[in-house]
Amino acid sequence: MIERHLRARGIRDPRVCQAFDRVPREAFLDEKHRAEAYADSPLPIGCGQTISQPYVVALTLQELSVQPEHRVLDVGSGSGYQTALLSYLAAEVHAVERIETLASRAMETLKRLGVTNATVHIGDGSLGLPAFAPFDRIVCGAGAPDIPNAWIEQLADGGRIVAPVGPRDVQTLLRVEKHGEHLRRVDLGGVRFVPLIGEQGWR
Ligand code: SAH
Repeated sequence: MIERHLRARGIRDPRVCQAFDRVPREAFLDEKHRAEAYADSPLPIGCGQTISQPYVVALTLQELSVQPEHRVLDVGSGSGYQTALLSYLAAEVHAVERIETLASRAMETLKRLGVTNATVHIGDGSLGLPAFAPFDRIVCGAGAPDIPNAWIEQLADGGRIVAPVGPRDVQTLLRVEKHGEHLRRVDLGGVRFVPLIGEQGWR
């Protein structure tokens, strides 16, 4: 999967490739979908949600440019797969998931894999996680109408956000960099994510 779906399509960041090498995607899927774990496609994880396509996760992580000393907020942790990848890239990961069943399943999987620097919180991640702010990086696996203000407020100066933004059915993957009062937005291309449902997302 790493050679065919990631390296061949321009994912070159060695730390990102190493994280993919370390995290078994099948551990985040139920038995029915385990055989397809290394295909480059999104798959159902229950509760009407999906685990994202590996290439899109890799592109997101490469653009996020996580450093070993960083504290990261992962909004919409779903199965916990991206949270596990982040746990190898960052010092500390705080994930938020609104569906309790998914959050507790993700926490169990992370524990089973021996991940100790990531926590899954239950709540509305469109409001960020003020108790643990500021974050050096914020990433989201669900599409919002726009970048929530809460995330910008909770982002450290010099920090970065990568998130899908736009209409409910199809979005643009955005990279936002915070330099003092100034925000730089870079369009990374069209993507399709499940909606971010919450106070600063979709109602
Ligand atoms: N990156 C995840 C993909 C999860 S899909 C993975 O690796 O599995 C997006 C997730 O966002 C879903 O689980 C959905 O329940 C969650 N979500 C949607 N709106 C949310 C919100 N406001 N706060 C937290 N989680 C949310």
